[in-house]
This record gives sequence, structure tokens and C-alpha cells, in this order.
Amino acid sequence: MTMKAGTDTAHGVNPINPVHLPSVDAVLSDASCLPLIAQYGRTQTLAALRVLLAELRAAMLTGKPASEISITSLTAQLEHQLIRATSSPMKQVFNLTGTVLHTNLGRALLPDEAVQSVVAALTAPMNLEFDLSTGKRGDRDDLVESLLCELTGAEAATVVNNNAAAVLLMLNTLAQDKEVVVSRGELVEIGGAFRIPDIMTRAGAVLREVGTTNRTHLADYTSAIAENTGLLMKVHCSNYAITGFTKSVELEQLVPLGRSHKIPAVVDLGSGTLVDLAEYGLPRETTVRETIAAGADLVTFSGDKLLGGPQAGLIVGRADLIAKIKRNPLKRALRVGKLTLAALEPVLRLYKAPELLAERLTTLRLLTRPQAQMRAQAEMMQPILQRMVGAEYEVSTEPLMSQIGSGALPIDQLPSFGLALRTTAANQHSNPLGRLEKMLRELPRPVLGRISRDTLWLDLRCLESADQQGFIAQLEQLAQLNSTHS
Ligand SMILES: *Cc1c(COP(=O)(O)O)cnc(C)c1O
Repeated sequence: MTMKAGTDTAHGVNPINPVHLPSVDAVLSDASCLPLIAQYGRTQTLAALRVLLAELRAAMLTGKPASEISITSLTAQLEHQLIRATSSPMKQVFNLTGTVLHTNLGRALLPDEAVQSVVAALTAPMNLEFDLSTGKRGDRDDLVESLLCELTGAEAATVVNNNAAAVLLMLNTLAQDKEVVVSRGELVEIGGAFRIPDIMTRAGAVLREVGTTNRTHLADYTSAIAENTGLLMKVHCSNYAITGFTKSVELEQLVPLGRSHKIPAVVDLGSGTLVDLAEYGLPRETTVRETIAAGADLVTFSGDKLLGGPQAGLIVGRADLIAKIKRNPLKRALRVGKLTLAALEPVLRLYKAPELLAERLTTLRLLTRPQAQMRAQAEMMQPILQRMVGAEYEVSTEPLMSQIGSGALPIDQLPSFGLALRTTAANQHSNPLGRLEKMLRELPRPVLGRISRDTLWLDLRCLESADQQGFIAQLEQLAQLNSTHS
């Protein structure tokens, strides 16, 4: 064999393995490579080819492949390499954790109206900050403000990036260098480093804690009021409940105290629902409208928790205070983009037909799914899943409890139905449930369940029928993983 000019092979370096690697140029100019160049571009194809050839050369030095490598087999490998190198790190998953509004899985899923609206906003110019009636510059909040006011009974509204930003902006605007009175029972930490005391400091406000963890009285607030008091604040205990010997001050009592001292009373409602959930058979939660009606001067809440929209922070309340907030330069830094507004507006509009909401608003539809429906689904899938996991695991259909998630109604749980996977005596693996959990996570569309009490639980609440087919279709691959994973 002779060495071809311009060919960079391992040839000659390793005489034991005289396999010939085609040159970079030979591959790139081969007809089989043209579709790859057309799809991925020459730069990327060339880079992937270099990586591939280097790998093959390294394998040859260790004496692995002995057969001749043809250009067509190389381009086939190259295509795999390119698919891997160009695949998105973002993946759709199946959320079978039982937590409907899962912060780590992106919280609320949006209804089709919102999807269409986002597509429209992405692909054509829009009146984001342009008043079409006057031809003058407008305010992006105008696109949703009147809807928010109608749905909450507030005088005015503004939108920022998330509820943490809403709280920060509210505190910074109204209480910079002033004291904010908060009950010790409401000094919340929401997962992911949102702590009321820290946000307070960053906003330039001074936290004035009153009462104790379990009991706070109106007199505690009254005696805390001083010359430098900027706000009275209540915070929703989103992810915990204080029970037993407790006492907290209702907003209705706090409001007159604030008014008599001309100090605004504000509420961080956290999830903040716009409808009475009890009307949909769910546990009751104070609505934003009720909070405004009780006299709150401002209320902040999230867009992607119970509201069922995109990530956003909503501030509603007194017009003069909202106007002040909008003038704060921080508002510019925390404002939302057009995609958020495009998604939020149609979601808010769905609330104008409350009797149709449980069908149209994805979050509410998932939260209100009848248990019998999930049960039938579990019974249908049980034998299929059992076949895929084999005799090492036992699959059964069982009732379980879902959670709303994202700090909404932390105590209440929703009766659900799902599949329970347990290890059988035939299982010889060292960490059998962990192994199964990993295999489910390695599927093309990863399946995420929850392990507790020696059981891997797959809660079917968030598996709607449209997704069910995809779920079943990829189970074949689970059987393959099962036979190869040790
Ligand atoms: C969730 C929550 C927040 C943070 O809201 P994000 O929209 O996640 O920024 C703040 N306060 C309370 C009480 C919450 O429940």
C-alpha cells in the first residue's frame, strides 16, 4: 500500500493496522456528503468530520477496527455525529412527578391560544409600545392592564419578569430607606433563593419583624409603626402552614391601621388565583379580587403558577402607586418582553368565560382531571409497562396524591391515580429502583416519576390523551434499555 498525497491517516504510524482512512477532501467532495453540507453547512460538517477521523485514528492505534472504512460508512457515522452535535439541550419530558406546577420543569403549560399568539408576535411586527389610535408611542402594559383590572377589581396594573421582581420593585419604589412591617410568621423562603428578608435588603428597605413565628397580633403591628414606616406587608405562606396555637392578623384588620397612618398595606400573594378554586372542586384559596376588595393597596402574584400563564410578575392596585412603580428606573430593567405579553394576554382573556375555564386553561384542566379518568388510563397502561420492565419489577395501578406545586396550597393534595413500580425477588441489581428511574430518564422523551417508600411512582395526572400515545410508543425502547442496562 502506498500513501496518498494529502491524506492524513494513521497509516505508516501503525504498521500493524494498515487500514486506510479516506482524506477530509475525499469525504467532503463525495456525493454522499453533499446533503450533510446542505443541511449543516460546510464549517460544521468539516469540524465534525475532523473529530470523527481523529476518533477513528485513535481507535486504529489501539488496534480496534481492522476492516476497510468506506466513504459511505464514514458519512453515515458523520451524520450521527452531526445529529448529536447539533441537538438542542432542551427536551420535552413527561412530568409524571405528581407536581402539576413543577418549577424545575417549567411550571404552567400554556393553552393553544397563547401558543398561536406567541407565534404571531415572533413572526411579525406588533403594536408592543405603539398606540394605534393616536399613532403615538404607547406603553407595553396597556396590552393587558385593562384585562387585569377587570379580573381583579384593581384600578391599575403593571407587569414585570416574575413575582420576585414584582416584590423587589414594589419594595424599592415605596419603601427605600424605610421600614416594612412584616409578621415573623410570614418571612417566607421560596425555593431557589427567594427570601423575603434578602429581597428586602436588596430593595433598600428595612425589615421590621413583628410578632412571633406562630402568633402575631394587631397590637404588634400598631406598636411597630413609627415615623419611618413605609409599608405594612403580608406574605402568602406559600410552601408551609403554621398550625396549632396560631394567630395572624387578617388583611381586613391591617388595612384600617395603615389608612389611619397613611401607610399602604401590600400583599405578596405568591401564586395568586383569579378564580375561586372551590367552584372547580379544588381547595379554596383567597383570590386576587378578594385581596383587593379587602383593601390591599397593592397585590403582587406570579403569572405561571395557578394563573396558568407565562413566567411573569403582576402588580395590581392603587393607580397612584402603580404610576410611581412605572416611573422607577428599575421597572425598565425588570420589564417583560413581547413574548410574555403575547402569551399572557390570551390566557387572561380565557378568564372572561369562567364556566369554560376548566376545559380551556391547561393548568386548571390538569388540576381538575377526574380520578376515574386517570384510573382507566393507568389500568390500560399497566400490562404494557409490565411487559416492558419484565419480571424484575412489578407494576400495579394505585391511587396516589398529586400536588399543585410552586407553593400553591402546600397542604392540600389532589387525589390522583397512577402506576407504582416495585422490585421483585427476581431483581439482582444493586439499586433497582434507581436503575429504573435512570432508564426512564434516558428515553428519547424522558419520563420523570418520583421515588418514595421503595416504590417508583408515575402519577398520570399530567399525561393527557394527546401525550399518552407518545408515551406508549417509546416504551419499546424501555424494554431495550432494560435488557442492556446492567
Ligand atoms: C412563588 C412565590 C414568589 C416568587 O414568585 P416567582 O414568580 O417564582 O418569582 C414570591 N412570593 C411568594 C409568596 C411566592 O409563593
